[in-house]
Amino acid sequence: MSASRNPETKGKPMSGKLYVISGPSGAGKGTICRELAKLTDFYLSISMTTRAPRGTEQDGVEYFFVTREEFEREIREGGLLEYAETYGNYYGTPKRKMEAQLAKGRDVVLEIDVKGAAQVREIYPEAILIFIIPPSLAVLKSRLEKRGTETQEKIRERMSIVAREVREIPKYDYYVVNDDLAIAVRDAKAIMDAEKCSVRGPMTDLIERFEEEEKAL
Ligand code: ADP
Ligand code: 5GP
Repeated sequence: MSASRNPETKGKPMSGKLYVISGPSGAGKGTICRELAKLTDFYLSISMTTRAPRGTEQDGVEYFFVTREEFEREIREGGLLEYAETYGNYYGTPKRKMEAQLAKGRDVVLEIDVKGAAQVREIYPEAILIFIIPPSLAVLKSRLEKRGTETQEKIRERMSIVAREVREIPKYDYYVVNDDLAIAVRDAKAIMDAEKCSVRGPMTDLIERFEEEEKAL
């Protein structure tokens, strides 16, 4: 995510921003990302996983569904930006596509767990980490039950790690409470809007453009 050195594109933002969205299963990450996509452009990375598709999920849409052998080959060949094992399955971010999108200046959103987020922070220190949190454990449980995609046992498994996940919040840049969906989407969009004006990224090209313009005066 460095600024352009190409004279033709100098001064123009060449590199997109990298957002990481994490939070407990059922917190509303997918729902919020879908709503955000209606308001602003970004590439939503499609992860690779060894878990089985659930409900209406399709290969190449929600995830790339692969076998453990295929996933492990991808790890060996260096095709993943990060990966983690959660609930007994591998989940990982394919590297090539997201890198290409960032390089052409498009924002990228990764919807990944707290272990993955920590790895991304190491590779891209300027990534923007957002944690989606439900208003309470009771609300989270009832949303997971209503979603109806997991058995009671799987729901218990997911609930059992929520407090551990929430303890990672201080490592994030922002958190959004997903109580009222419209407010949560508004807050997430506000974060993305504010980040567009952040000076934490490389500002060198912008400064150089003004210096060059000054010389030409
Ligand atoms: P995640 O992607 O974090 O696992 P989902 O986006 O699938 O979570 O949301 C879990 C369930 O909760 C879904 O059935 C979704 O429709 C519902 N949901 C999400 N946000 C809200 C909200 N603010 N109020 C009520 N239900 C919600
Ligand atoms: P689910 O099985 O509910 O789709 O996802 C389970 C968990 O895996 C969620 O916390 C989700 O954010 C996480 N996850 C999804 N894709 C990735 C990924 O590419 N990398 C990592 N580290 N976690 C992921």
